[in-house]
Amino acid sequence: MSDTRDPAAPTAGPDSAHAPPETVAECDPAEGLSGDPAAGGSHDSATGLSHDPATGHPRPPRREFKARGSFVTRCEGCNLPALNCLCPYRVQAECRARVWLLTHPLEHHKPTNTGRLIRDVLPETEVFTWYRTAPDARLLALLGDVRYAPFVIFPDDHEDYAHRVVGMDRVMAEVHADKVPVFIILDGTWRQARRIFRKSPYLAELPVLPLATERLTRYRLRKPASAAHLCTAEVAVELLRQAGDTEAAGILDDYFDAFNDSYAASRRHEKLEQPTPAMRRLQARGASAD
Ligand SMILES: [Zn+2]
Repeated sequence: MSDTRDPAAPTAGPDSAHAPPETVAECDPAEGLSGDPAAGGSHDSATGLSHDPATGHPRPPRREFKARGSFVTRCEGCNLPALNCLCPYRVQAECRARVWLLTHPLEHHKPTNTGRLIRDVLPETEVFTWYRTAPDARLLALLGDVRYAPFVIFPDDHEDYAHRVVGMDRVMAEVHADKVPVFIILDGTWRQARRIFRKSPYLAELPVLPLATERLTRYRLRKPASAAHLCTAEVAVELLRQAGDTEAAGILDDYFDAFNDSYAASRRHEKLEQPTPAMRRLQARGASAD
């Protein structure tokens, strides 16, 4: 089946990236082997670390990820390593377009998942867990809601759905017809995204919008198969920018950079002494919103 072929192969164009690269969970030392929050259960009694040593707050077991040979203390608010918490930089934005994430169940609890950054900034973002045999009833209802014009974000690399492929001009036409454009982003590895695309009958009639961009990824937490492979948050940034939601796109881009820098520093066991330029822009927006 096409959904099991090598995901890096012929689709490695700029639009191919909405699925974060393959190698991820294995190469994330802060994440441990499973990425499953339920897997870190027995540590409290074993280590006595039932409280955050920095804040004295109880550490919620569901948010903990056990890494090989060490324990990472995570912020309860942003789920990043507490050393460089992202919470001070969280800013919400207004946006005309919507993002709905259809997230593979294995992706949900990974702390390096960037899909959740989108919902932090754009609170109207919908997140659905994809199960092949059990489509989300709320998603099905929303797909039938005439207020929305949904687009599946996916590369146009196969003949068999070429007739469904549209461009951003179609999105803008929907805006002018007073519809709310919706970008449905398949959130998972390449292979998972392809499987979601192929195995979801409720997506089969929707227009397919490939992301056309020259952007190269700035994501540093997973090793991309190609610099043209954008992570989920970056895909949303570029879509929003092209659809005219430039301010929301800029804020999300800054928040993504703040996430990247915070997480990368924590992996080096460094505390960021100074906010980065993106962090300072977010702080200024947050202050002006108060
Ligand atoms: Zn935090």
